[in-house]
Parts: sequence; C-alpha cells; structure tokens
Amino acid sequence: MLQQAREILKDSFGYDTFRDQQEEIIQTVLSSQDTLVLMPTGGGKSICFQIPALLSNGLTVVISPLISLMKDQVEALRANGINAAFYNSSLSEIEEREIESDVLSGGIKLLYLSPEKLISSTNSWLSNAKISLVAVDEAHCVSMWGHDFRPEYAQLKEFRDRLSDVPFIALTATADKTTRKDIIKQIGLKQPKVFISSFNRENLSLEVRANIPKKEKMKEIRQFIGDRINESGIIYCLSRKGADEMAQDLKGYGYSAASYHAGLAANKRVKVQENFINDKTNIICATIAFGMGIDKSNVRWVIHNNLPKNIEGYYQEIGRAGRDGVPSTTILYYNLRDLMVLKRFAEGGAKSEVYIDKLYRMLNYAEATSCRRKILLSYFSEHLPENCGNCDVCKNPPTFFDGKIIAQKALSACHRTKQKIGTNMMINILRGSANQDIYQRGFQNIKTYGVGKDVSFKDWQHYSTQLLNQGVFEIAYDESFTLKITEYGRSVLFEDGTIQLTIPTDKPIKEKGAKKASKKKLSPDEELFEVLREVRRDIAVKEKVPAYIIFHDATLKEMASEKPTNQLDMLAVQGISVIKYDKYGKTFINAIEEFNQSKLNTVEATHELYKKGLTVDEICFTRELKQETIFSHLCKLYFDGEKVDIQQFITQAEQAAVIKAHKKIQDFKSLKPYFDFLDSKLPYYKIRVGLTLLAKKAK
Ligand code: ADP
Ligand code: ZN
Repeated sequence: MLQQAREILKDSFGYDTFRDQQEEIIQTVLSSQDTLVLMPTGGGKSICFQIPALLSNGLTVVISPLISLMKDQVEALRANGINAAFYNSSLSEIEEREIESDVLSGGIKLLYLSPEKLISSTNSWLSNAKISLVAVDEAHCVSMWGHDFRPEYAQLKEFRDRLSDVPFIALTATADKTTRKDIIKQIGLKQPKVFISSFNRENLSLEVRANIPKKEKMKEIRQFIGDRINESGIIYCLSRKGADEMAQDLKGYGYSAASYHAGLAANKRVKVQENFINDKTNIICATIAFGMGIDKSNVRWVIHNNLPKNIEGYYQEIGRAGRDGVPSTTILYYNLRDLMVLKRFAEGGAKSEVYIDKLYRMLNYAEATSCRRKILLSYFSEHLPENCGNCDVCKNPPTFFDGKIIAQKALSACHRTKQKIGTNMMINILRGSANQDIYQRGFQNIKTYGVGKDVSFKDWQHYSTQLLNQGVFEIAYDESFTLKITEYGRSVLFEDGTIQLTIPTDKPIKEKGAKKASKKKLSPDEELFEVLREVRRDIAVKEKVPAYIIFHDATLKEMASEKPTNQLDMLAVQGISVIKYDKYGKTFINAIEEFNQSKLNTVEATHELYKKGLTVDEICFTRELKQETIFSHLCKLYFDGEKVDIQQFITQAEQAAVIKAHKKIQDFKSLKPYFDFLDSKLPYYKIRVGLTLLAKKAK
C-alpha cells in the first residue's frame, strides 16, 4: 500500500518524497483509523486525504467551509488528472444533478461538500453512494473555542454517527489544546491518532521595525518592493483608509497594487482577489479580511504596516507567504500609536481583558531582544532548541549598555516639566530644538534643555520606546498621552535603580546588491524564470485557471535552474506529474530550448565580431554589453575549442596566482571566492580567463 502511495505521490502530484508526517498519516488513514491532523498552513494537509482517496474503492467526501477554496482545490486535482468535484450553493440545479449522477456512477473519487449541503445530501442522494473516507478540513470551525466557529459544522456529528464504519480524518492549521479536545468530541472521532506537526516555517524570515516615521517607512516599503518587481506580496493595514492610502501611494509610483477590505463591493472584492491569484496584480494592501479564501502558493512577502492584534492573527497572516516552501520575507512595522489605537479597540468590547492580554503578548514579540521564532513557537507550545538564524534578532543581535544616564536625562526632562509632556516634546527638549511650542511654554529655560543634543531624534525614539517598555514611563492615555514617571522610573532618576538599553542599529532592509531592482540585471536563471512565467500565464489564461494550478513557482524555479530539455529530466523536477508533463511538458521544453538558443546566439554574435578582428572594447561598444560579459563569451568559446586567444589577457604571474588560489578553493563555479582570496587585486575578468585556461587543461 505504501509503495503505491509513493507512486501516486510521484505520478499524480510530481513529488519525490513525503514531508515529515504525511506518510504516517496516510498509513493511519488507510488502516481505517480516525485521525486528527494539526499542521500549519502550507504544511501539506491535502495530500494526507487525497492519496488515501485515490487508494480507496469508494468515494471520499471532503467537508470544507470555504467555497472559494473548494473550486481551487478541485481544479488543482483535475489538472493532475484526478476526478474531483465540488458540491455547494454556487451550483445550478442542472449542475447538481450532473454531479450527483457522476458520484453515484463512481466517476468521482473526491467530492468537496459544503457543510450547508451536508445533511440535505446525506438524507437524499448521497445515501446511495459508497463512501470510504471522510475528511473534515478546517476542523477547528466545529469548536466554539476556536477562532472561527461555524454553526453548520454541528451537523458533522450526525453524519459521523450515520457512517460509523467509515474512517474520518479531521485537519486544521490552528488549534490549541482545548480546541483540539473539542474537535474530537464534537465530530465524535473514535480514539483518533493525533498528529501534531511543527508550526515552524523555516522559509519565512522574520523582521520587526519599530517607530519608523511614516514618510521613511513608505520609502523603505517602496524600495523593498522595487527590489522585488515581479513578486507577489501582501501589505496588511490596520484600517480601510490605511489600506486605500497605501495602494494609492504605491500605484502612484507605478507599482501594481490594489486595496482590499470589507468596505468594497462584493464583486469588486472578487475581482481584486482574482487578479492577485492570476498574478495580474502583484501587491494587495488589505485589512485582515484578506486571505482567508485564497490558496496562492507564491506569495513571496508579507508586510504588516501596523501592529497586529494578537499573535494568532499575525502568524496566520505571515503564513500566507511562502506556501510553496521557497524562502519568503516578512516584515512587521509598528509604532506606539498602533498600540494606543488597538488598546482603545480592545477596551471597548466584551472579553476586553483577554484581548488586551493578547495585544501585550504581541507587543512583547515585537519588542523582543531574543530569537523571534523561539517566542512565536513558544506561544504555540513548541520549543525550538536553537536560535533560528532567520530572524532579525538572530542576524543582528542587539548590544546592551548601561542606560542609566540616558534614562536620567529623559526622566529629568519629564520631571522638570511637571510630567505634562509627550514623547516628541520630551525629545525636542532633550535635543534643545528651538520650536515654537517650547518657547511658548518656556521649556528652553529648564536645566535639561539641550542635554541630549548629541543623540539623534531617531535614536531618542529608539530609547524612549525601550524606556516605556521597561516601565520607566507610562503613557497617560486620558491626559493627551503625556508621559508619567513610574515608581521604577523614580528609582532610576533619584536612587540606585539600574537599566540596560540596546544600541540602536540601523538594520538595513535592503539586501546586499539589490539596489535599483527595477533596472536590476537578471541572472540567466532569473531571466528564464520570467520567460517560463510568461508561458505559464498564457496557458492559465487559455485554460481559465489560476497560474499556480498549472505549476507552482517552486517548480518553475527548479525548471529555470535545471533547464530540462527531455521527458526524463522534466519529470525529475518537483511538482511535475505525469499528466502535467503530457499536457505542458513540450511547451515548456520548447521555451527552454529557445532560451538556450538565444543565449548561444549571443556568444556567437561576439564570436563573429572577434573573428572580424575587433578588440574587446570595440565588441563591448558594438554590442552594448559589459566587458565582463564579453570576456565570459570569449572564455566559453575558448573552452568549447574555438580559436580564440585568451592567453593574451593575463600575465604569467597572474595565471600562477589563480592556480595557487584554485589549489585552495578547488572549485570553478564562482569567481567571488577567488577575488577575495586574491585580496581584490585581480579583476574578475582576469580570474575568469585564468580559470578557463586551467579548466581547459584539466578537460
Ligand atoms: P495546507 O492544506 O496544509 O495548507 P497544502 O496541502 O495546500 O497545504 O500544501 C501546500 C503546498 O505544498 C502545495 O503546493 C502542495 O502541492 C505542496 N506539497 C504538499 N506535499 C508535498 C510534498 N510531499 N512534497 C512537495 N510539495 C508538497
Ligand atoms: Zn531567530
């Protein structure tokens, strides 16, 4: 059975290996035992019931509350040649009859059913079907303790009782202990085997940026997306207005962005969502309403423009990035104003204590000075033994120093103004700024005026946040947000209270080398990736399905780097099933061959000019290419046995240096290690020439 499961994984889904617990889960389901699966979004839950469905004789019923997702999943299955259908309120009567008869004739292996249709169907036509497995997706919806209770799910118990011999598998991406127990009880799972996967999503980088002034923040965000021109991303905003403004701003700079929130008309929302799924719009600026019903695997980044309300929500939202496992970036921006606004929201409603507590847990995360992933996972009762290395704290650990003097200066400014000032005024006093407000209130005369001149405004903001978080000050929300000195603050100011602060670091958001991405030169693999995306987009438009139903980005990326040009190599690429190869293999192979040809031609073009006797500089000028590129062409020609004299470009001493470096580095792949090894003394083109001569000899 397991052998068969592996074959299906490869043939029908195009994957070589199961992920951590998939195999065990499938085995359990196939042994007819009830199962509860907790796995993060993107973990690969679907395969856990889809493969058993294909290995069973009868029908597998999948209960799912998200109608929009249903259609997507069914399309994805059909694209792999699997007979699946959905049955929900979106169907016409004729369509309903059609599906009913297909199911009863055994033509459908997987039926996605909405909970609304569950009981009416089981009481009628579905009672004649031979059901061999039931999967309950988003199983937390059955519990009042979960965050998304759906009353229709209450009917599951009846369904379960009716099918007492059929194994049930319940799956969810979020469930604490209480909810977990409740799921088992509410559905009536019989001694289920419970699988809890790690919630660690290693491919998501985590970064938090505090108190960046709005203008600067916008600049950073624009720069960030400018470096990622063709990538999809989501910016979560606190308010509708914030989302609209953000989208407007980005569009103004020529980026492909749209806003999405509950204030838009329903049809407009559907349109925005569709455009995003089909890669027509790259960036969505959304309130939290966005994302529930989408299953887009190639979201490359998520930015939070404001502090989220709680860690659950934050985790779910960043989880929408990188579902295909490809490294993806997440950044959280927040400032103290967010905190105030959210606090006011929370204080208004019922359960306000819980909400405020959750908000403070979120703040603790944002303020963390230790590995963020550890904090995040510990929130979900998971212990990460080592620091993750993929969060901003790990990459750039804070350095602490004795902050007593800084704190005393700030405290003194507040004390001498009778605790009637807010943060900005405090900083202005400390920096001795000559603003009107200060003069009107006579603050230029207090002793503390100007004692913090040597520290920049931004750094003072950094310190103020820490002073607040560490409880030196409190904010009096009901007194125009003025700062009040706490008991602890008094001890720091007047007694022997101590305080540690962190040195402000300007964590550059920019990754190295990615300066002006709009004009960034793509590497050949990236270039091919873009070509393949075009090919995929054309197919998607023709077949009227989202692009990722054809192939995920991860698959195209692998294709771009491996450049398969025959069936065997193509099938070795992750995510290419047999049926997808049959449908699209040729088209993609043609595109790759054409691409290879065009690359070849550029080398040939250089060759022609070289044969005419042009110098390297002349060839550069004629072809409008960089010198580096021309040298790479000449080296390739030489290596392939053409009559090109590259020896002339390097002296014997230089060649000896390259040979010496090669003894150490032992690798022809990348020039950078050579450049470094040789103390930047030999230009790249000479290293390339030297290595080519060496490699040719070894050939
Ligand atoms: P979930 O339902 O848990 O959010 P999915 O079932 O949609 O996640 O799977 C997420 C992504 O991972 C999909 O693109 C899926 O094709 C892919 N995937 C699932 N299992 C594997 C596997 N064994 N190897 C590679 N990719 C996989
Ligand atoms: Zn970390």
